[in-house]
Amino acid sequence: EVKKNGKNGFQFYTTQLDSELYERIELEGYLRKALERNELLLYYQPQIRTADSRMIGVEALIRWKHPHKGILSPNVFIPIAEETGIIYDIGNWTLREACRQMKQWHASGGPLIPVSVNLSSQQFHQSNLVEQVQLALEETGLEARYLELEITESMMMDASVSIDILNQLTSLGVKISLDDFGTGYSSLSYLKHFPIHKLKIDRSFVTDITENQSDQAIVATIITMAQNLKMDVIAEGIETKGQLDILMQNDCRGIQGYYFSRPLPASEVEHDFFVPLRLPGNPIILG
Ligand code: C2E
Ligand code: MG
Ligand code: MG
Ligand code: MG
Repeated sequence: EVKKNGKNGFQFYTTQLDSELYERIELEGYLRKALERNELLLYYQPQIRTADSRMIGVEALIRWKHPHKGILSPNVFIPIAEETGIIYDIGNWTLREACRQMKQWHASGGPLIPVSVNLSSQQFHQSNLVEQVQLALEETGLEARYLELEITESMMMDASVSIDILNQLTSLGVKISLDDFGTGYSSLSYLKHFPIHKLKIDRSFVTDITENQSDQAIVATIITMAQNLKMDVIAEGIETKGQLDILMQNDCRGIQGYYFSRPLPASEVEHDFFVPLRLPGNPIILG
């Protein structure tokens, strides 16, 4: 809306740029310290099986508890972490912390479900990724089959080494999910050649699914294709009962979204989703 500001437009623009730049530099400086100061934390968003509304997994989503700005979203600081290379340390921390938390839940009688961890493209191309994943599993004691790594279509596209890395990760016993599926520019033939266990249908196809026939058709097609390829499906960003109903009519078996739960601190996941485990006489039914 710069032009509408007339004479003052340019002034406004530079001022805004300056403050954005300033904020970036400020964040970058703090971000380097954030890890050491234990300001990073993981929230966990339950993934729900539509058939019985049980939690079948959680996605670990990073947050930064900034000393002055409160809880910051990854969209604000992950791009800075990627540009500055801090992402390697953050990524390794995230892997370990997610594995540690899930192992602790397993060890304390929580549901035997997997945790999903998002990888950034830089991590995916770091030479010791497989080693780092193996270390995280060894150091925390989490079984590999309870770790899922989320990658995006573009990450598969931009290097010939990708399939090799994915095969190595899969050999460890780790599972691979394709995040934001349908928004990238990948060729469907990748699904045939790469060891992908799960497709996560991007929220952009879900948002208008109750009114938009094209979105409905796309989602139905992805679900059918995944079933034929023996892959699991999670639809992302379900916020309403109407969206859930249509997804269930199309045989979508897994969902993730605010309708069931926002991403939560670990303690709240325990409080809200482990409760049946604590009722006397109840068998372990989650997961
Ligand atoms: P993503 O992996 O696609 O994660 C899903 C995002 O959608 C999360 O945002 C989640 O809070 C949000 N979401 C879930 N359900 C709903 C819903 O019903 N409605 C709406 N409007 N949003 C919903 P979040 O936590 O802000 O994360 C944003 C992105 O940041 C993630 O997208 C992921 O790409 C990245 N990210 C998060 N944690 C990490 C991490 O540990 N490492 C890396 N490299 N990236 C991360
Ligand atoms: Mg994700
Ligand atoms: Mg996603
Ligand atoms: Mg994403």
